[in-house]
Formats: sequence, structure tokens, C-alpha cells
Amino acid sequence: MGKVTGFMEYERIDADYRPVGERIRDYSDLTLPTNKETIVRQSARCMDCGVAFCHAGIVVDGSSIGCPLGNPIPEINDLVYRGDVEEAYERMSRTHPFPEFTSRVCPALCEGSCTLGEHEPAVTVKNIERYVIDAMLENGGIRPRTSRIRAGRTGGKVAVVGSGPSGLACADMLNRLGNRVTVFERADRPGGLLTYGIPNMKLDKSLVENRVRIMSEENVTFVLGSEVGLDVPVIRLMNDFDAIVLCCGATNERRLDVPGSGLKGVHTAMEFLTSATKRLLGSDARDGEGIDARGKNVVVVGGGDTGTDCVGTAIRQGAQSVAQLEILPPLPEFRAEGNPWPLWPRVFRTDYAQREAHELFGADPRRFSTTVLKIDGDGDRVSSVTAVGVEWEDRGGKRVPRPLPGTEFQIEADLVLTAMGFTGPERTLIDQLQLEVDARGNVLAKYDEYKSSLLTVFAAGDMRRGPSLVVWALMEGRNAAVACDKYLNGGKDRY
Ligand SMILES: Cc1cc2nc3c(=O)[nH]c(=O)nc-3n(C[C@H](O)[C@H](O)[C@H](O)COP(=O)(O)OP(=O)(O)OC[C@H]3O[C@@H](n4cnc5c(N)ncnc54)[C@H](O)[C@@H]3O)c2cc1C
Ligand code: SF4
Repeated sequence: MGKVTGFMEYERIDADYRPVGERIRDYSDLTLPTNKETIVRQSARCMDCGVAFCHAGIVVDGSSIGCPLGNPIPEINDLVYRGDVEEAYERMSRTHPFPEFTSRVCPALCEGSCTLGEHEPAVTVKNIERYVIDAMLENGGIRPRTSRIRAGRTGGKVAVVGSGPSGLACADMLNRLGNRVTVFERADRPGGLLTYGIPNMKLDKSLVENRVRIMSEENVTFVLGSEVGLDVPVIRLMNDFDAIVLCCGATNERRLDVPGSGLKGVHTAMEFLTSATKRLLGSDARDGEGIDARGKNVVVVGGGDTGTDCVGTAIRQGAQSVAQLEILPPLPEFRAEGNPWPLWPRVFRTDYAQREAHELFGADPRRFSTTVLKIDGDGDRVSSVTAVGVEWEDRGGKRVPRPLPGTEFQIEADLVLTAMGFTGPERTLIDQLQLEVDARGNVLAKYDEYKSSLLTVFAAGDMRRGPSLVVWALMEGRNAAVACDKYLNGGKDRY
């Protein structure tokens, strides 16, 4: 424990955000680096408590407790306090393959379970993680480490399908364990939603490119622009590889099924966000009309993180106005009775994009307990959205929304973005391989075993657990690699 009285002496200091007026003019990082002195004091707030829930990594009643990767957080905090950043990184990298991603986009499940957080603001675990990985990136400490890859390759040949966080973590671990790994990705760039999903201001794409370059130098092969099941027959993979790990994500978007949803100017969140990042990276956008919010009244349907990223991106493109409609009521300001510490606190949050909209347009763009009745058109183009307030009521033990008569209203709209979540993985590969699925349509593969109903096929990440978080995808990818390696090694665990 760094400093016994640290948690009594120092207050929590969060990472500073760049001023709104400056950051909405570019797609660069939202936050500013935190200086060393502040980080050392923040790490001194860690109490090294007897039972540290921050690294528990379990789910209770659908709520996470602690970091799914099981990072040894108190140890890392202690090392940072003592000024040994390299050793802190060394410990971190034993459980965490890519801290440069989570230190920017993780909601910090660890902080929700921090013991200090029961009475005081939690330790800034995520920002300390960022300090460590940024220092290592800056001093050139993150290099290909072929020496760490198990000597004498086993001869196991594994195909990983999908290069999102689960695919990358899986390929990295399989490679370290001595297998020969090929990652197939249908997009023109690797990274999955790290690349085409999460916007650049939250996660700079150069970080993804850098990690993929390191993995390539460590002998992982990336085959881009190749959709397995379409461009590459899955039977070829079955013949050419000893095992396959499916990390294809849960990419089926929930569609808005109301009159007018087929009008021009109505797009899904992923169409919009992908097109925005492609344009930024200079890839061939192929978005036909070029989805652009410049000068438009934008209505985002969905109040979750994806909707929020649409708001932030629309603002950067120069939208004239932005409204965000959410069917659920707002969460409470403080933990509700059924949501005690150390469960993830389900409380009301205001994210970067809502703060930006507030500063630009004078109000939080969100309207809660609201749904869309229809989308109105001027010819074949969207012109407005008719929405209505809803009340949630119990019907046969199920909570359902009921439109409230007399609360209908119209919002002017030139661009409607639907961000209503994802329903699960696509069916093509699942059908071709005739894999069993669970009740939600995800690939059936037992937690911690990752083995599908086919002997040589494993599954991880959103494709197995449903739409989730980067940190869970990393954890699943890494553990699926260990399970796959064990299978290839005659049941012997070599991790
Ligand atoms: C807009 C948005 C913002 C988000 N923001 C955050 C955030 O801030 N923090 C956070 O923790 N999580 C966030 N998430 C969730 C997070 O990105 C996902 O949980 C995570 O990326 C899932 O990882 P994955 O590897 O399982 O799948 P994905 O990242 O979806 O990757 C799957 C990959 O498989 C490829 N693929 C699919 N089928 C095939 C095929 N047949 N052949 C070849 N390739 C194929 C896809 O092209 C894709 O690249 C966000 C999600 C979205 C949509
Ligand atoms: S990956 Fe996320 S949950 Fe884990 S230690 Fe980092 S910020 Fe916390």
C-alpha cells in the first residue's frame, strides 16, 4: 500500500476534458493527459483493502462486480505510487492485453466496486491505467516481444474470425502460447467496433493500428477484406486449420419499425458512425449519399452509448440541432435499494456528447420516456419525427411502455439515426456451421469453456455473450484462446 493515509488526505481528481468549444472542432482525444504528481497522489488513495472487489470480475444478477480481466489493481496502484511505471505495466500486462483501449473507453467497472467508493469517490483506476500505458507507449516500451512467445511452435493452426477486441485478444494469446494464427476480417481495417464504431475522439485509431502492427510483427497474420462464409468458404477454414475461434460480434442492429422508417435520411447508427470514421481515415467511404449531419436537424433514436456517440459525431460534423430520444425513464441520481455496492452503480450519467450539446444548444439533448410514433416525409425525404411520451407499466410480470395520450409532439428532422441496440450475431456463419444458439440467438458456448456445439469451433466476445463491452470482449477472447490451446494440446492447460 503506497500511502496509509492517502485516501484521507487526497480528493479524487478526474481526467480533465478539453474545453467543449475546442474539442468539437476536431476528432482528437476528448481528454487531456494527467500530470505525474496528480497520478501519484491518486494512486495513493488506494487502500489496498483486504478483499479488493475492484478485480473480482464477476456478474451478479446481471450486474458486474470489478474488472473482468482481474487486473491486480492494488498492486499496480502501489507501484505507480512508488514511481515504478515499468513494473506496474509488467503486472498489468499479465492479465491485460491492450490497456491502451480500455484506459480510454472502459466504463471502469473496477471503480464501481472500489471499497473507497462505498463512502467516498472511488480511486481513479482507469486514469491510472491510462497514465501507465501512455508512459510505456511514449518511452517505446511497447514493442513486439517475440521472445515472450512460447519457443517451438506447437503446430496448432488456428483461424480467428473477426478482429474486434475479442478477436485481437484471442489471436494475441493463441500466438503467445505458440500457435500459428490467422485473423480473417471482412472490413478494410482491423479492430471491429474499436475501429468502425467507437468514434476517434474516444479512441484514436492510431492506437488500434499500432497494436495490430505489433501483433503482425509477432507473426499473427491478418487477412482483411475477407468475409468468412462469403469470400472464404467456411469449409476451407475447417480443412486448413486445426481450430476456429469465432469472434464476429453481435452486429445485427435493432431496426425502427414505424411508418416512414424507409424514408431517405433515416440511417442506422452504425451506417452513420462507420461512414464518419471511414471519411476521417480516408478509406473508400462507399456510403452512397455520404451521410453527413452538416447543417441538419438530427434526431437520434436511442439514449445509450451508441446514440451518444452519434450525438458527438453529428456535433463535430456541424449539425444545426441534435435531439436524442430515449424510451426508458432516467436512472436515479444515487444507487437504488436493489443496486448496492459493490455492484455496478446504475445511476444517471451525463456523457461527453450531452455536455457538448448542452453547451452548444442550451439544453441536454435527451428526452426520456419518449418513443417514436412515425417519421414524416417531404416527398421521399425525412422532414420530421412524431414522438410521444410513454409510461412504463407491469403487464403479466413484464414492464412494457404505454404511449401517453395527448403527449405527442413533432421534431424537425433532416437526419434520423437509429441507435436502439443490437439484437445479436448475424446468422450466415452460424447457419453454415449449423451451430447451436442460446435463447437470444448468440452462439451457444459455455462460459469459461468457449466451445461451440462443433468440436473444433470456439466462440467469444459479443457473438457469445451478446452486445457488451470492450473489457468483456478482451477477457472472453483471451480465455477462449486458452481453452482452444488446451484442446489442441490434448487437454493439457499450458497457460
Ligand atoms: C458505437 C459503439 C460504441 C461503443 N462504445 C463502447 C465504449 O465506449 N466502451 C466499451 O467498453 N464498449 C463500447 N462498445 C461496445 C464494444 O465496442 C463491443 O462490446 C466490442 O467491440 C465487442 O467486441 P467483439 O470483438 O466481440 O466484436 P466486434 O468489435 O463487433 O468485432 C467483430 C468483428 O468481426 C468481423 N466479422 C463479422 N463477421 C465476419 C465474417 N464472417 N468474416 C470476417 N469478419 C467478420 C466484423 O467485421 C468485426 O470487425 C460500443 C459499441 C458501439 C456499437
Ligand atoms: S479494464 Fe476497465 S474495469 Fe479493468 S481495470 Fe481497466 S478501467 Fe477498470
